[in-house]
Amino acid sequence: MKILEKAIEKQTTRRGRAAQALHQGEYLVRLTALGQYFHVADEKGNNTTAIGMGFFPTADPCIVAAFKGPPQPTKEAIFLRAREVGIEEIVLSSQIEILGNTSGLHSEMAIVQAVYGSKNQLRNPEMGLEIACIGKGVCPDCSGYMAKYGIPHTATRSNAASDWVHPFTGAHFHGTDKNFTYGKAGRSFAHAGDWGGEYKKGWAAG
Ligand SMILES: [Zn+2]
Repeated sequence: MKILEKAIEKQTTRRGRAAQALHQGEYLVRLTALGQYFHVADEKGNNTTAIGMGFFPTADPCIVAAFKGPPQPTKEAIFLRAREVGIEEIVLSSQIEILGNTSGLHSEMAIVQAVYGSKNQLRNPEMGLEIACIGKGVCPDCSGYMAKYGIPHTATRSNAASDWVHPFTGAHFHGTDKNFTYGKAGRSFAHAGDWGGEYKKGWAAG
């Protein structure tokens, strides 16, 4: 089935890119310090705190934060701490955005979506983004996606997540190889047997 084969190829390519060496980013150390201040680890180490800093051609830079698990700090608290760790570009708490956790996107992809707004902005050389992730580490899918668009980020973990949702198309990649399911635009394709493929209607695309 062509669609599934192409989707698996995309996933494999994306994960392969995660191994690429990437420009370290000017703000990652400070963003990590900022995230560590607010991060609350749970027993299993499943909590993630992701902090991104976005740069725009005609607007002030911003900090976009996503917290999974712990109670969310206020913008004002993040603002004060950002100044303390030397992120002086943030001069108003209105330059800070805190994302909820309901989109199905990994935190890093929710930040990419919030900063870039649309897919074609990813190639805009006047825009920039760096993301520090505290907790489990960046998954190979997010890392590969960010490597593709030159978004500096902190260390990648080796194990992939079972679900990954594309921040702009909503395409949903689930599993790997024989257990692979791909969904897009309300349609779902599941691997069934020997590349027979199966078409199911009604997938709730991310
Ligand atoms: Zn991820």
